[in-house]
Amino acid sequence: MIKRIYNLLSKAYGVQDWWPVTPPGQTQPRYTGGPRNNREKLEVIFGAILTQNTSWKNVEKAISTLHTNDLIDCEKILKIRKDKLARLIKSSGYFNQKALKLKSVAQFLQEYPILKLQKMRTAYLRNLLLEVKGIGPETADSIILYALKKPIFVIDAYTKRIFSRLGYCNQNTDYDELQKLFHQNLKKNYLIFSEYHALLVEHGKNICKKKPLCQDCVLENLCKQAGL
Ligand code: SF4
Repeated sequence: MIKRIYNLLSKAYGVQDWWPVTPPGQTQPRYTGGPRNNREKLEVIFGAILTQNTSWKNVEKAISTLHTNDLIDCEKILKIRKDKLARLIKSSGYFNQKALKLKSVAQFLQEYPILKLQKMRTAYLRNLLLEVKGIGPETADSIILYALKKPIFVIDAYTKRIFSRLGYCNQNTDYDELQKLFHQNLKKNYLIFSEYHALLVEHGKNICKKKPLCQDCVLENLCKQAGL
């Protein structure tokens, strides 16, 4: 059934090509199938922090400003004054906290460069990331999946909302438990996990909203709360 839900969403919304990254010579992230080099992977890592508690639209502005100021670079993030960095990423909200988080992750990457992270086993890597200030399970898993292209399922508020309405969990189900549902029922494949999460975000934003549009939903026949 988990695979069937994926197929229905995929048919409805098409290929999502996450995570958006900025092509060479440009300053705006585009959906082109994820990062292809370490600079783009670093942009995804910064983006995963900037997107906490805000919409991607606000993050795009902050990423673009980081590019304009040549700050997709750990050494430069560590050098720049925290208040100046906070001003540059203001559009992403919680900018003082996020400036500190960017500095923490940049410091972490000095010790564990992307090449080193890429070679680690996923469980070990996840535990390391969770020790970094400001990185929780959703951010850690977004970094592992979308920056490092290792198969781990990202759970977010949309996933919980949709799957609780479908009858697979409730609002109190914890992150790891819900993640297990996907890990146990899907082939561990980076592309499937990447597309599935992106499709759930699309569905949660447009159809299974706080006030759901069940009459337009491709999952209506499978859903315990359709039309309620
Ligand atoms: S039928 Fe309604 S509640 Fe169920 S998944 Fe679709 S939009 Fe959400």
